[in-house]
Amino acid sequence: MVRFVVKFGGSNLKSAADIRRSTEVVRAYGCPVVVVVSAFAGITDRLIHAIGEVTLALSSIDAVIEALRRIHGDALIAHVTDAERRAAVLDVIEERLSGLDRLLRGVHYIGSAPDFVSDAVLACGERLSAPVIAAALIDLGIDAVEALPEDIGLLTDGVHGNATALTGASSAAVSAALGGDRTRVVPGFYGVGKDGKTTLFGRGGSDYTAAVIARCVGAASLDLWKDVDGFLSCDPRIASDSRTIPYLTYEEAAELSYFGAKIFHPRTVEPLEGDAIPVRVMNVTRFAGAIEPYTTVGPPLGEAAIDPRVIKSVASTDEVAVVRLEGPVVGSRPGILARATSRLDAAGVNISSVITAQTSINLIFRSQDLPRALAALQADATPGVLTVVPIEDVALVAAVGEGIRDRFGVAGRLMMAVASEGVNVLMMQAGASPTAVYLIVHRDDRERTARAIHDAV
Ligand code: ASP
Ligand code: MG
Repeated sequence: MVRFVVKFGGSNLKSAADIRRSTEVVRAYGCPVVVVVSAFAGITDRLIHAIGEVTLALSSIDAVIEALRRIHGDALIAHVTDAERRAAVLDVIEERLSGLDRLLRGVHYIGSAPDFVSDAVLACGERLSAPVIAAALIDLGIDAVEALPEDIGLLTDGVHGNATALTGASSAAVSAALGGDRTRVVPGFYGVGKDGKTTLFGRGGSDYTAAVIARCVGAASLDLWKDVDGFLSCDPRIASDSRTIPYLTYEEAAELSYFGAKIFHPRTVEPLEGDAIPVRVMNVTRFAGAIEPYTTVGPPLGEAAIDPRVIKSVASTDEVAVVRLEGPVVGSRPGILARATSRLDAAGVNISSVITAQTSINLIFRSQDLPRALAALQADATPGVLTVVPIEDVALVAAVGEGIRDRFGVAGRLMMAVASEGVNVLMMQAGASPTAVYLIVHRDDRERTARAIHDAV
């Protein structure tokens, strides 16, 4: 049985030195593992950009393909000494590049990229990094082989751009395919729908791939190798005395990720909770031979383990926006919220949170979704809603810790800290989750607010 699923992100696959270190980490396990890889740093963004460019100019296709050929070819030269193996991997790369070329030509002639095509294009980053990493591992003496999601039966619900893995339906095939005593290298970020089409797990989705596989194979742990010291108590650019948090519950890690801590994909813990598979967050840049976690994420350790200070970490983000539905009776007239949310649902816009009162309903979105949300909400008049007001100049600051809702005085202390900084809190949400409280403040006040809370707790 494979005991560890080991994931490397794009930031671990930047330079030749990064790749070397990541492959050495795999060797340090000293046993067969499943390696899940992201695309090399910046490649997914480049592919997104390419989709935009090729709708305008056919000639841009050659430039993209050539750049990808060079980047992956250079990596092969740096990490694979055996000429025959290098040639074999180059063939694989060429074959995948010509598939990409065809997809991009399709995009050009159609004039846009339907969602199933853009998913196939974006997945190419991982489909190019995986064979290179597998070959580099062989160079280090590891018996490694690539395993593609479509070949191991990693099935999804078929939703393009934001798929969910069908863990139950995939388990038997995935664990059979990844069993045995070889190290497998799986490209992250996508699985296949029942129709065999590529479906992405959303940006940063390789963490989620790794989690799904860890669940399918019943791994002892999911090891996410990053280039930071795990989850911190605050962004070190905001609080210079921020510290690594050694242990987080699944829920705490999920809330922190949801509210802006960019350590892992917010859905990473979802497949793992049921079987209590821990996530260990490691730092490749500090690797010196030992497999040591900075933060471990797992089940709650019980009442006695809760620190009296409760709040473990403060996360914040500018990437939020609010749409306020105003009218004198919006809070008491039935159906208004239902109407708004069904329109947003139809437009495929996710609502991050809702805060309501008698005279206004505040819907909170990720800022990138604001234009679509606004368009959907303004599409036709809702009786009772007099104005639809977008509010962009805001930030969200969240405090996270198990027990935050149920322990006396925690929210009070937090508000005192913020008040003593003179910050005007525009909105606040407590109680929705037992582990998170968040504030909406002016964007200019974000750092001050986060620092004040961090200092106080
Ligand atoms: N390459 C994808 C992205 O950049 C997936 C990942 O890195 O996890 O979003
Ligand atoms: Mg990435």
